[in-house]
Amino acid sequence: MPKQVIVIGAGLAGLAAAIRLARQGLSVQVFEQAESPGGKLSELRHEGYRFDIGPTLLTLPFVIDELYQFCGEKREDHLSFIPLEILCRYFYSDGIQLDAFAAQDRFEQEIRKIHPADAQALPRFFEYSRRIYELTADPFLFSPIHEPSVWWRRQNLTALLHLPQLDPLSTVHQGVVRFFQDPHVIQLFDRYATYNGSDPFQAPATLNVIPYVEYGLGGFFVQGGMYRLVEQLVQLARRNGVSIQCGSRVQKIIHHRKKIKAVKVDGKEIATDYVLCNGDVVTSFRDLLPEMQKPNRKLAKLEPSLSGLMFLWSVNQEHPNLLQHNIFFSRDYRQEFHSLFQEQQPPDDPTVYVAISAKSNPADAPPHAENWFVLVNMPPVRPDHNWPEIVNSIREKVLHRLEQHGVFIRNSITFEKVITPLDLQDHLSSNRGSIYGLASNSRLTAFTRPSNRSREIKGLFFAGGSSHPGGGVPLVLLSGKIASDLIMREVPQ
Ligand SMILES: Cc1cc2nc3c(=O)[nH]c(=O)nc-3n(C[C@H](O)[C@H](O)[C@H](O)COP(=O)(O)OP(=O)(O)OC[C@H]3O[C@@H](n4cnc5c(N)ncnc54)[C@H](O)[C@@H]3O)c2cc1C
Repeated sequence: MPKQVIVIGAGLAGLAAAIRLARQGLSVQVFEQAESPGGKLSELRHEGYRFDIGPTLLTLPFVIDELYQFCGEKREDHLSFIPLEILCRYFYSDGIQLDAFAAQDRFEQEIRKIHPADAQALPRFFEYSRRIYELTADPFLFSPIHEPSVWWRRQNLTALLHLPQLDPLSTVHQGVVRFFQDPHVIQLFDRYATYNGSDPFQAPATLNVIPYVEYGLGGFFVQGGMYRLVEQLVQLARRNGVSIQCGSRVQKIIHHRKKIKAVKVDGKEIATDYVLCNGDVVTSFRDLLPEMQKPNRKLAKLEPSLSGLMFLWSVNQEHPNLLQHNIFFSRDYRQEFHSLFQEQQPPDDPTVYVAISAKSNPADAPPHAENWFVLVNMPPVRPDHNWPEIVNSIREKVLHRLEQHGVFIRNSITFEKVITPLDLQDHLSSNRGSIYGLASNSRLTAFTRPSNRSREIKGLFFAGGSSHPGGGVPLVLLSGKIASDLIMREVPQ
């Protein structure tokens, strides 16, 4: 009789873990509270427009390739990844415009136009970023960092011996200004701290690994839309025998003498050997294990990552000056993050991200039209936030910012859907609407982030943005791998 695993949540981490466990012969059932799988990655279609909701950029695609290989299949037979030549077009408040080319020589030329010395510093910065990746990838991304055995591997001991090269004592910003002088270039590289929902003025400079991940290893779009990734992983799961039930919220994790016994779903108890929880660790403990007071108190103190306010706009006009990824920067980045993290209020002058997938996937909008996904960073949800008021005010600020750059779309928006941090909190059980789980604003976050194996309950495991190794598509897929490997270690062979 195969061992039973119940996976709570069909986000990317839950799907990845379910696939791996089923492939290794376990009986796997996934329960997802939403009506469709994917969690923070979803899709909307409306009158000829298609929108990805959530992630718009794929990095570290080899993580997905490896998942298919694990199942004896080839990713290329199911999903195509399109490399981006220009990763993002940056618009600054003083009118400067900068294209972040994936090719380092082109990017250098671009920076040379505004600051020749910074162009010269670029290869050194990427070398610093690459070195952090080489030292951190195995212990911090690919391994269960909380298991002591990890630290006895030779390459991981090397990482510890080279700790200063991980730059943990500086902040992201301090690391960046060691290489660059021009404020535009500095703001561009500071932005990478937001890739896991953190503050560049607090997060450790070890996060300066992210530029190497994006420029050195590439940024991609999934042909046909990011949501194809969810659809294909669901099919891969089904081919391997996973049962996925959407519209079913797990109400309780049931344990006896500190050992997993069952979960309660739709009023029924279902017995299981293991539970893999893909829901946010903080809210899952709070809602599904309220009796566990000590861990709940500890988890409630962890700082959530940034949240986000999203506008999906059907725009019946084309903008040749915009690319697939565009950032309209705020005037004062430090003030923006002070509002977001210290004051926990929406910034007065927000940075605006505009993604238009129709630029590389024309089928995503009718001819001569564009599908806009607009994202503005938001603080974690607080009871005093008045969302209808915030939405109106931020909408106006976004339109005004675009107009300052000559982009007039007020009268071209034919459809609008707004997704607020409250939606992320209420529909996906995301902790205070966090996008990436927990912020990495402290030097110790890598170690204080919840581990993939529960210390309190035997047989309970976690995978997803709020557990190790953190948020973002490739990291949560790795989290699914790490958690499933830990379960397999416990399965009698
Ligand atoms: C606006 C936005 C932009 C982003 N941009 C990028 C990007 O460009 N690139 C990138 O790599 N990443 C990006 N991310 C981050 C990335 O999308 C997430 O890190 C990732 O999708 C999270 O996956 P997950 O498996 O951790 O969890 P989730 O997607 O949160 O899935 C967890 C699932 O568990 C379900 N669940 C929770 N509790 C229960 C319960 N009790 N019973 C049943 N089901 C339950 C939830 O409904 C949810 O479906 C972005 C995210 C957002 C929101």
